Amino acid sequence: MDLLEYQGKQLFARHGLNVSDGKPVTTVEDAVEAAAEVGYPVVVKAQVLIGGRGKAGGVKLAADEDELREHAGNILGMDIKGHTVRTLWIEHASDIASEYYASVLLDRSAKRPLVMFSVEGGVDIEEVAEKTPEKLIRHHVDPLTGLTHAEALRVASEGGADADVVEGVADALIALYEVWLQEDATLAEINPLIVTPEREVKALDSKISLDGNALYRHPENQGLSDRENEDPLERRAKEEGVQYVKLDGDIGILGNGAGLVMSTLDVVSQAGGAPANFLDAGGGSNAETIKQAVDLILANEAVKAVLVNIFAGITRCDQVALGLIGAFEQLGVGGKSIPFVVRLDGTNDVEGRRLLAEAALPNVHTAKTMNEAAEKVVALAAGQSVEAGAP
Ligand code: GDP
Ligand code: MN
Repeated sequence: MDLLEYQGKQLFARHGLNVSDGKPVTTVEDAVEAAAEVGYPVVVKAQVLIGGRGKAGGVKLAADEDELREHAGNILGMDIKGHTVRTLWIEHASDIASEYYASVLLDRSAKRPLVMFSVEGGVDIEEVAEKTPEKLIRHHVDPLTGLTHAEALRVASEGGADADVVEGVADALIALYEVWLQEDATLAEINPLIVTPEREVKALDSKISLDGNALYRHPENQGLSDRENEDPLERRAKEEGVQYVKLDGDIGILGNGAGLVMSTLDVVSQAGGAPANFLDAGGGSNAETIKQAVDLILANEAVKAVLVNIFAGITRCDQVALGLIGAFEQLGVGGKSIPFVVRLDGTNDVEGRRLLAEAALPNVHTAKTMNEAAEKVVALAAGQSVEAGAP
């Protein structure tokens, strides 16, 4: 989960990194108010989940209210590489003597955290890494000791930080490592990490990706996703704890296990259909989760037919069948005329198919194999009729 710059800076501040005072706003009037609070000159910054905002015209200095109104008005609504700017961050502008670069991430091949530092910050760091790799210091950290003060000092001085700020840069690196570790981030980056004329070391930008699978350990971070730009169905799924990704087609997909769902998408595509979603109900799906999943799939108005593909190991097909029957009754699926194709295989599949057959739900078809199920659902979505299928 990627954070907006200002959200990242709020995490930085919590861990003792220097950042400028600022406020997030969504209108020009609020920007004027925020600027008056933080004090001119201010910098007006587009909050979008994409880098290179400065070059795209999404970062502007404003010396007074007139300039602020002009920039805020221009940047709000601006499109930056396909991202629409809805939020601005207004912060007190900093004077800059030097722009450095710092980041922490997990180096999977080395199986260690990697701290990177360069005095060539502010620019594209990939370019520095490519053209002048000697100017990008890479230091692997022993996860058991963490980044020690001595190591951080060495990274800062070997990287060429001005002598009088080596101590300040080292402190910033340690704080950044702490952000990365304690917040369960996959990436924590500062570009630029500036030195002011007063020789203060400060994070002028932030780029943080949090590990979504560790979010449960950080209730205070759960509200940080970019809600405005999130699909409403995906947001709802996240709140309900369902693994759901919206796609462009018209065939709803429900399966258990990410691998099975991925191959279901493939098989449906092969049969000439277009999946409307990815939905993994997970191992051990019970009646309640199936009901919730069906409800979510049908909330997408593009869906014309639904394929339920369950291969049961831990999951029991009779439980799935009960969930489906409950969902169909509660949601009035039969009456709503959205056809379902159900393929149940594995633990208690005979029992599951028997329950479904007994319920004799209108518009619910069964299939024994994945290919048969895919062909049926594609035909149904196209408005053709198919055989109901034997239990
Ligand atoms: P990015 O382009 O998306 O990486 O956005 P940044 O936040 O890194 O800003 C881009 C550039 O704008 C920085 O490298 C700085 O040169 C400049 N900039 C940002 N904030 C300030 C500020 O407070 N004062 C000054 N003088 N320049 C700034
Ligand atoms: Mn930047």
